[in-house]
Amino acid sequence: MTDHANRPVLVINSGSSSLKYQLVEPKSGVAQAGGGIQQIGEPSSRVASHEEALRLAFEQMAESGVDLKPGALLAVGHRVVHGGNEFYRPTLIDDARIADLEKLSQLAPLHNPPAIQGIKVARKLLPAVAHIAVFDTAYFHRLPPAAATYAMDRDLAERYHIRRYGFHGTSHEYVSAQAAAFLHQPLDELNQIVLHLGNGASASAIAGGRPVDTSMGLTPLEGLVMGTRSGDIDPGVISYLWRTAHMDVDAIESMLNNRSGVWGLAGERDFRKLRAMIESGDGAAQLAHDVFIHRLRKYIGAYLAVLGNTDVITFTGGIGENDAAVRRDAMAGLERLGIVLDEGRNLSAGKRAQRISADDSPIAVLMVPTNEELAIARDCANLLAG
Ligand code: ADP
Repeated sequence: MTDHANRPVLVINSGSSSLKYQLVEPKSGVAQAGGGIQQIGEPSSRVASHEEALRLAFEQMAESGVDLKPGALLAVGHRVVHGGNEFYRPTLIDDARIADLEKLSQLAPLHNPPAIQGIKVARKLLPAVAHIAVFDTAYFHRLPPAAATYAMDRDLAERYHIRRYGFHGTSHEYVSAQAAAFLHQPLDELNQIVLHLGNGASASAIAGGRPVDTSMGLTPLEGLVMGTRSGDIDPGVISYLWRTAHMDVDAIESMLNNRSGVWGLAGERDFRKLRAMIESGDGAAQLAHDVFIHRLRKYIGAYLAVLGNTDVITFTGGIGENDAAVRRDAMAGLERLGIVLDEGRNLSAGKRAQRISADDSPIAVLMVPTNEELAIARDCANLLAG
């Protein structure tokens, strides 16, 4: 058997119809295997359940030469979207914790049930290994009250645990630490804005290593325009649709989560295809891009004011890491606010952390790849090390 600390963690991210996995060594950061199974339970799919998907993942790992024999794993790390008020540390899972998590599902009915399903299946197939839940909300647990509180009926909010929780916390924490390391400056001396732009998208303001605001709220629907989610919208739209279009709450929720965002505007959520559509003169794609950028710039402006003094702005996530046009348009014309992009650097940004601002830009602008799997694996290793 390999040395305890060098054993890999199997990180599982279980969604309603997908299961992503990665086998990663927490110390070195080396990913030994990884993949994903999509369309679980859909009529056209040959994978009927999350259990079948996990068995398939084991087969895929075996094919790539990875044998999950007893003792091979340090732990299984599960990404869980919502930790509510109770869960803000990596948590060793037992039957009682699963019952607690099931109670929390009300807060995140779209996201937590598939994660719990993934935990149950993985415990069944890997009963001798420690299973650890890592929460997407955890990092934002200590948001200042002014940022965490909705201005609504206080008793109602307390009774139903309505507050701004924030999501993508694992990524915001990891990327802000990487940005500090890249700049060779202590995390606790930097004021940062992190823009995590993937299918889901969120922004955060981090002062001296502590998050002071973030764009997602009670659910991952608030904030930036996303692939298929609306982000911020007047809550009046919901009652208007209910009353006038006679849509029920599930139909409205599904529309805002699955048929909105750039997809709702342009019929396409992938920014690579959106770019091609814009180049071929598609007006809807151009509007989708413009709405996405406008919202992003509003949050950047807001967080510059929240922080007062910003040292670094970092782009991450599939879009933030790869789409130079989004980075350019988000940062354009902000020289008077201290942001000077270097066009050549922005265009040549590759796979590694990189500065994309000019050397004399008062605020450094970086591209830093996120690695949520590694962050989760490290959380697991730290928990087990005590
Ligand atoms: P998720 O939120 O599912 O983890 P990712 O962070 O992987 O999403 O981001 C996925 C999105 O990133 C894709 O839908 C696509 O819009 C965008 N993307 C990925 N690669 C590129 C690229 N080379 N150029 C532009 N956009 C890209």
